[in-house]
This record gives sequence, structure tokens and C-alpha cells, in this order.
Amino acid sequence: MSYQYNFSAGPAMIPKEVMLQAQHEFLNFNETGISVMEMSHRSKEYLPIVEKAEKNLRNLLNIPNNYKVIFLQGGAITQNFMVPMNLLSNRSASYVVSGYWSKRTYNDAQPFGTIKLAASSEPNNFKKVPSFKSWNFDNNDAYVHFCQNETVHGAEYFDTFKIPEVPLVCDMSSTILSRPVNIDDYGVIYAGAQKNIGPSGLTIVIVRDDLLSFADQKTPSTLNWKIQSENNSMINTPTTFSIYMAGLVFEWLLDLGGLKKIEELNIKKSNYLYSFIDADDFYINDIEIKNRSRMNVPFRMVNDDLTKKFVATAEELSLIHI
Ligand SMILES: *Cc1c(COP(=O)(O)O)cnc(C)c1O
Repeated sequence: MSYQYNFSAGPAMIPKEVMLQAQHEFLNFNETGISVMEMSHRSKEYLPIVEKAEKNLRNLLNIPNNYKVIFLQGGAITQNFMVPMNLLSNRSASYVVSGYWSKRTYNDAQPFGTIKLAASSEPNNFKKVPSFKSWNFDNNDAYVHFCQNETVHGAEYFDTFKIPEVPLVCDMSSTILSRPVNIDDYGVIYAGAQKNIGPSGLTIVIVRDDLLSFADQKTPSTLNWKIQSENNSMINTPTTFSIYMAGLVFEWLLDLGGLKKIEELNIKKSNYLYSFIDADDFYINDIEIKNRSRMNVPFRMVNDDLTKKFVATAEELSLIHI
């Protein structure tokens, strides 16, 4: 079969250069005589891989020293319960619901304590995200949660948020590394790797160190940010190969010119696509213009039959999962 252009949000395409490098190193990494996949996570061969990955991620995102980077498993959805387990500490928290994923996050958190709705755009069928000034939270909340980009609905926040009173927790699964962010504005950022970073299995959590002391007593060690962080994400075996692949993607991004550069490319690509969609009435994307996602651009045709035909024809042309 010929080369396919894979438009799946995740697991998503990985840069070809990265795939070729991984292939080249697959059986014999760096003259070690073994594959990264076969290395002990505590070995002198593997440790530099994870250290370099973290260093490059810190470099790309400009992560301050008072933030820990943790490499975990379980996907972004596992953070739906890890966030309350690690932060709630018998307080309340407020959640912004702006689409499929943040609604799931809000629902998943319910059993853990007082989980309030800060704002919801569900009455608008998620066609725009609730504006920051409409968020209703309490300065005594343990945190405020929101999702930066709703991958399914295609609605994204581009605002810069400053709420010094309450830690901001953000699901950045489908925006991380797509543009620069000011890490200082956040208490916790998390992302499943398979959208923007690399293979599935790896989940990255970036957490301000003063927020590591609130975990519920019963939190198992593998799910406890503080214990994982104190053990360099190795309280048990981490996703060694996914971390290695993520590290290659970080290097690729640095070589490209970093996040300013990838942001420019993402703006260019998405503008091009939206201008095509908007050119006539044939293609439809009805997300509020200022919230239109740069990362995931959902569109359909005037009727379902045409949409189905479009998807089938695209597949014949090697444009899959469109
Ligand atoms: C894909 C996605 C998730 C789910 O991630 P898993 O890694 O499958 O748990 C959660 N949030 C957002 C914004 C996503 O795009």
C-alpha cells in the first residue's frame, strides 16, 4: 500500500524523520547492542535517554525549576481521577465544561468530593468555549480545571489565564507543544502523548512543586505525583520506549526551531484549511471563529450522504481517518 496521510487526532502521525531514526536505532541503540525496548529502566544505557527527554521538554516549554515533570501511564483519562486524588484534600474544585473531553473529566471527578461546574458551553452545543470571565469559581477551591483544546468538538482556548488565587489545572493533550505557553500561569498541566508527542502509553504531568503535598492518604504510589516525582517517575517500570520516542520528537521540534516556529506552521496550516472551508457553503465548520481549533478542524458537508462520500473518496486518495 502506498504511503498514507493519517489525519487521526491520536494516535497521530509522528514525524517521518523520527520514525526513520527509531527504525535505524531499533535493534542496536547507540552501539549498546540492544534495543531501547529491551533496556532496564534503571540501566546506565537508558537513564541518559529519559534525562535528555526531560531536559529537552523543559527547554521547549521553558519550564521553571519549581515545576516537576513526571512521565506516567494511563492516558489523560487516568488524570481525571489522579487530579482529585492528588489535589482535592477535602476541599472543592471547579470544572469548566467546553466539550466531550472536559465533560468526561468533570463527570469522572464527581466521586472524589465537591466537584462544581464553573461554566459549560453544552447549551450552545459546544460551538464556543465558555469565556474566562464567565467562569464561576471560588478562591477556596483546591483548583480550577479546564481543557485547552476540545479535540472532538474542535474548540480551543487561546486566552492567557491569570488566576493567582487558585491553581489552574489544564488538560493540554491536543495542544501541548503546538505553541508556547506560560507555564507559570498553571498549577498542573497534563497530556496523553499520542496526540502531539509520540506513541500512546505515556502521559506527561507538569506540576508546580508546592502542589505535591495534598495527596489523599490512600493514593497508591503509582498514582501519587509526589512519590512518582521523588522517584524520577520510576516507582514502577515506566513506558520506556514511549519516553524514548517522545524524546526523539522533542529533539525534532528543537531542530525545527522550537515552539514559536511550530506555532507559525500551525497557524499557517489551519488558516489555509479554514479559508478553504469558508470559501463557499459546501464545507461546514460552525465553531465560533475565535475559538476555532488550530489542532483539530472538524468539518462536514451539507448532508450526511455527501460527508460519507467525501470520507470514502479521501480514503481512496490515501487521506485516512479524516
Ligand atoms: C485524547 C484526549 C483525551 C483522552 O486521552 P487518553 O490518553 O486516551 O486517556 C483526553 N483529553 C483530550 C483533550 C484528548 O484529546
